[in-house]
Amino acid sequence: MKSTKAEKGRGAPVAPSVSSANGDRKVVAYDALTAKRLTEIPANAWKLGGGDAGAYLVGPAWFDPQVNGFAGVDYQDPAITGEALERSVREIHARGCSHILATIITAGDDQIASQFRKLGKTLDESAFLREAIVGFHLEGPFISPEPGYRGAHPAAHVEGKAGEPSWDRFSRWQDESGNRIRLVTIAPERKGSLEFIRKASSSGVVVALGHTNASVEEIQASVDSGATLFTHLGNGVPMLAPRHDNIIQRVIGIPGLSVSLIPDGIHLPPFLLSNLSRALGSRRVLFTTDCVSPAGCPPGRFRLGDLEVEVGEDRVVWNPDRTSFAGSALTMDAGFYNCIRFGGMSADGAWRGWTWLRRRMFPALKPPMLAIPFPEIAIGS
Ligand SMILES: [Zn+2]
Repeated sequence: MKSTKAEKGRGAPVAPSVSSANGDRKVVAYDALTAKRLTEIPANAWKLGGGDAGAYLVGPAWFDPQVNGFAGVDYQDPAITGEALERSVREIHARGCSHILATIITAGDDQIASQFRKLGKTLDESAFLREAIVGFHLEGPFISPEPGYRGAHPAAHVEGKAGEPSWDRFSRWQDESGNRIRLVTIAPERKGSLEFIRKASSSGVVVALGHTNASVEEIQASVDSGATLFTHLGNGVPMLAPRHDNIIQRVIGIPGLSVSLIPDGIHLPPFLLSNLSRALGSRRVLFTTDCVSPAGCPPGRFRLGDLEVEVGEDRVVWNPDRTSFAGSALTMDAGFYNCIRFGGMSADGAWRGWTWLRRRMFPALKPPMLAIPFPEIAIGS
């Protein structure tokens, strides 16, 4: 008797959640930003996976302001080719993300200049790349030299004068890039930062603070000078920091700063992603993968600039001495779902967090529509 019951249970077909009278599958769709029901998925929408999904969210394809590499392609690689860059962008598109800022991190001055020249030239030669890579993000070298705050950025290029914001040095890199640096992350406690922030922001470059141990006063002064963002809050922080007066708490208290978070469940444990999302609110929070070349690849060893990074089954990207993360292996679609699964965000809030910065930085861009499978029960919950 028992075994018959068990077999019956095992063999029971799973009923489709939504079906029409003639047995065809009926798809329901919701506007991702308003949660209102749509009559259909737009015919030209990018459709992610989920062939038998019953419900979809539909909205503008996503934007990621910090992509260091993807699908085995390292954007810091001096030998990068247009073909490799296009391959990585196609994989990013397949994850629902239409636009990125390709990110260059701390290196020697000449190395930064030649990489911007290389990437700029590559974009000059490809309309496909120019459409997808809407600018560059320079993270460093004008950041904190202190261990922990510096993260995986090479010490030799952030210590002393090398790490002090310099408009002349930046202008050289901007020229080499073909005027494509649209975002720069700096630490405002470095000498000369306020003048740099004023010049950068008045030239149309968005200034983010990050990899910093700035005081409340220093952060506020940089906001007053034109800084508007904070890069990956909760990372670029030592393992042990003061319990009250620390960079995370200081930044939460400055309403003029919007904040990017990395929703991989590793850079921020799920509860912290949720706490920070709620504390900041959907008007201040935005998401990024900060992904490096292992994103979208199986575990292995990968290059990230001068570093060799290692990725195991746990998808954690360690720098070689395992003292800090060196970017993430997160893909944009996984990041979006994480924002809802454990990030304390509603579906519409999460979607905003993956798109609003593009609207602000590039208001003329018309992103393609994206449709992603989504359980109906989660709409508006
Ligand atoms: Zn960083």
